[in-house]
Amino acid sequence: MLDRLEPQSPDALLALIQMHAADERPDKIDLGVGVYRTDEGATPVFGAIKEAERRLVEDQDSKSYLGPEGDTGFVTALMPYAFGENPTMGGRLAGMQTPGGTGAVRLALALGQKAGLKWLHMGTPSWPNHAQIAQDLALEIAPFNHASDDGTANVEAALDAIRGAGAGEAILLHGCCHNPTGIDYTIEEWEALAEAIAESGIFPIIDIAYQGLGHGIEEDAAGYRRVLDKVPEAFIAYSCDKNFGLYRDRVGAFYMLADSADMLDKAQSNANALARASWSMPPDHGAAAVRLVLRDEKLVQNWRGELTAMRERLRKVRDRLAQSGEAGRLDLAPLGTQNGLFSMLPVSKEEVARLRQEHGIYMAGSGRINVAGLTMGNIDKFIRALADVTG
Ligand code: PMP
Repeated sequence: MLDRLEPQSPDALLALIQMHAADERPDKIDLGVGVYRTDEGATPVFGAIKEAERRLVEDQDSKSYLGPEGDTGFVTALMPYAFGENPTMGGRLAGMQTPGGTGAVRLALALGQKAGLKWLHMGTPSWPNHAQIAQDLALEIAPFNHASDDGTANVEAALDAIRGAGAGEAILLHGCCHNPTGIDYTIEEWEALAEAIAESGIFPIIDIAYQGLGHGIEEDAAGYRRVLDKVPEAFIAYSCDKNFGLYRDRVGAFYMLADSADMLDKAQSNANALARASWSMPPDHGAAAVRLVLRDEKLVQNWRGELTAMRERLRKVRDRLAQSGEAGRLDLAPLGTQNGLFSMLPVSKEEVARLRQEHGIYMAGSGRINVAGLTMGNIDKFIRALADVTG
């Protein structure tokens, strides 16, 4: 039977990690991997999470099964951060824990499909797994250009997709810190999107994987909350794997906004059934640690401080790149106004290969860089190398 399978190409970023590990040059730079790094190149466990884990080990008295909805205390504790002062939106919004943001995106698309979703409108480029999950579910993807050549969001393309949509169509939007471009909508653009979505009836799916890494917890939520305020229904996929540094512990949540409490119950029971058939229930540990952090004022303060330090470091690297202006034929100025871990450089595959071979600089073939891979110690070398290969 297995002979009938077609071999699949390995994940390109994993291949890049292996190549980087095998490179013996001491000043090599890894801009491929999708995790935060400190100025020393580390991806440490948050202090607030360490403390919560200590308490978990000490106090947890059972590891018996929860249910498909996972740690409901975690799901509820996260809601004021994601949704603001009226976190259930009058009893219309509820959620469940998922294995990472990936599990939440999977559930959003699978539940959408169960409810008649056929077409997924999506700005491209996007996080590659968006398309992979949609394809796995045999959903049709209707792509539009997320960004314009000048490094700003192409909101007209999104508005056109929304205005032309009919029944059975959804639009996937990144809540903040767009992966891979770093280009987010302005608040005015979010307002225009919200109005158009409400008017056309297209179903919004918001993917939030980097809240707090752009401009702040509240600032990063302001845009997508405008959409949620205007629409009768929506799905939200949320990842805590970046903003709590929990990556491998797989911490995420899937939220549903419905027009009435009855409809919300119906959606939740279907989401539970899908989760049961997929992973039965999500891994507990990381979500329990987040719950302990969010329920303790002092740990919340620590967590917010650590998140602020990450955000400020990303901003400092971006400012430095932007200030350097031109590097060869590249204009680095737009990187200063982009957000989060990622940005795209308009470099060719050959230039990416030369950066790797001649300078020991590793980045995705698409030109995506993780700005957290840059430090005050290696950023000048990076800018010089860019000037060299694109000059
Ligand atoms: N959505 C986006 C846009 C992402 O970039 C990521 C992670 N890279 C995810 C979802 C999924 O995150 P997780 O690791 O929590 O599954």
